[in-house]
Amino acid sequence: MGKLYYCTECKRVLTSNEKCQYCNGESLKELDYGTPVNIIGSKLKGKVLKIQENVVRIIVRDDSNNKFIKEYEAEKLRKVL
Ligand SMILES: [Zn+2]
Repeated sequence: MGKLYYCTECKRVLTSNEKCQYCNGESLKELDYGTPVNIIGSKLKGKVLKIQENVVRIIVRDDSNNKFIKEYEAEKLRKVL
């Protein structure tokens, strides 16, 4: 099990808990299971199911309400407001 963080300013998901590598923000929080996230560059949204190193397994729900599981690298994710 790994730990990931997110920046409370730009909402990007991070592997480091020291500083945001995207906006230099210093206000970071741990990414919890069940947290809703968006896959950057898509309209897909899902919830964090599992974190392994920098890979996050997500339960995604599509427009037809079908659920499926996908894995993404941390840098492709953003926490949903
Ligand atoms: Zn940031």
